[in-house]
Amino acid sequence: MSVYADLHVHIGQANNRFVKITASRSLTISNALKYAKVIKGIDVLGLVDSGSKAVLLELEELLDIGELTEIKEGGLKTKNGLLLILGWELEVKEVHYLLYLPYLKTIKELTKILWPRTKNQELSTQRYLIPPAKLRLIIEDLGGLFLPAHAFTPHKGFYGKAYNSFKEEFDQPFQALELGLSSCTEMVSGICELQETVFLANSDAHSLPKIAREYNEMLLSALNFEALKEAVEKEQIIANYGLDPRLGKYHETACLKCGKSLELKARCGCGGYAIKGVRPRCEELGGLLPGRKRPPYIKQIPLEFLPGIGSKTISKLLEVGTELDILNKTSIEEIKKATNEKIAGVIKDARDGNLTITAGGAGYYGKVKVE
Ligand SMILES: [Zn+2]
Ligand SMILES: [Zn+2]
Repeated sequence: MSVYADLHVHIGQANNRFVKITASRSLTISNALKYAKVIKGIDVLGLVDSGSKAVLLELEELLDIGELTEIKEGGLKTKNGLLLILGWELEVKEVHYLLYLPYLKTIKELTKILWPRTKNQELSTQRYLIPPAKLRLIIEDLGGLFLPAHAFTPHKGFYGKAYNSFKEEFDQPFQALELGLSSCTEMVSGICELQETVFLANSDAHSLPKIAREYNEMLLSALNFEALKEAVEKEQIIANYGLDPRLGKYHETACLKCGKSLELKARCGCGGYAIKGVRPRCEELGGLLPGRKRPPYIKQIPLEFLPGIGSKTISKLLEVGTELDILNKTSIEEIKKATNEKIAGVIKDARDGNLTITAGGAGYYGKVKVE
């Protein structure tokens, strides 16, 4: 079966406690599960704060009351058929990694090893004192998946911030990596040491509407963790869908203080200094050169980025389909009927890649220009 999977979603609040300070309070586990399936049309959701004490407690509670059920082959299922994957984003030596494990009991086993190595067991994406290669080995032994998160971003990305090669920390190349919002397959597929590595696109959502701004269309033999793991290992990926990388927050080198595009070592007129962009970094790593054949990366512009489309229009559009349908499938005629000719035209231009985009950088999103 073909499914849509977004494997990087944070939780703002669980068990009446804050999990991620920068995340929206309405981003609770139950809201995320419902929103992902019903509004966005996602089938597989990776919750990357499962290692937080509060999230773990609430997951157990949801299992107790039957809102979630554990699947024999790993993963949890909601009543409306969404597969929840237990994930954990954490920071080791200034780099963010993503771990995915099959069962709540494997997450708990890991907390025994990891909680003593951190200052805060409640909050999301905490720093842990453990050699990365050791962590990877533990995860693989537990039957999980281990990969670098937003690998090319200057903010805590493996290649973007810290290393030129996996060999600086690991014996083996990465099985998979997360592209991050500011890059896409074309920008990195030339990197020699990534020829074996599978690319994933995930939203890194910190609020409900951002769920599924990036996701993967995958071929799964069944809806469970083992099947997902197999699909990643064998690259059963039909397509990666993601932001046009120019819309990402770190695409070009720019001034940290005002967001204006800037030369790398230059000082901005406002006094701020430059943050290196993902595009120049990927170029430096040889990413823009031709690589092996890959699943297509389909660039898309989420509704909230589109000029002239506000929350009222979005609600009208969601009456005819999920956001993923509107962006990719729903006929332009139907969209016109639900809204008007102008809106339908903007969505068509977004699908055809006909909108002008100013690239983002230094933590500022790119923008779609109004013609
Ligand atoms: Zn991160
Ligand atoms: Zn994250």
